Amino acid sequence: MSTCIFCRIVDGSIPAKVVHEDEHTLAFDDVSPQAPVHTLVIPKRHVAAVQDLGESDQALLGRLLLTCRKVAADKGLAEPGYRIVANTGRDGGQTVFHLHFHVLGGRHLGWPPG
Ligand code: 5GP
Repeated sequence: MSTCIFCRIVDGSIPAKVVHEDEHTLAFDDVSPQAPVHTLVIPKRHVAAVQDLGESDQALLGRLLLTCRKVAADKGLAEPGYRIVANTGRDGGQTVFHLHFHVLGGRHLGWPPG
């Protein structure tokens, strides 16, 4: 059994509130939401971080961003807007090392992040 939490969400051994699934991506609500909408969009294939993507992952990366867009639209965020975040590595604040995009919205989001 995988030790990666998000791989275990993909294989169904850890429950999650899934809001979108297709052949290559999965989207589910964050267990500790930082905004009224806080959904994570991940590749089903284990990729640790943005750094580990290669030239051959262009289609996957496009699919992930289109899934973020769909999640945001489905959650009613297209207007007034939202934020897509990929924390990367230790200084980037990444805590789960399976690539994910946070889709955050439903309140005004400050800038810059801490
Ligand atoms: P990171 O800190 O790596 O950018 O984001 C990891 C995110 O995963 C955090 O926002 C955290 O709340 C979320 N998370 C961690 N474990 C689980 C889990 O088991 N289920 C869900 N739905 N979210 C998780």
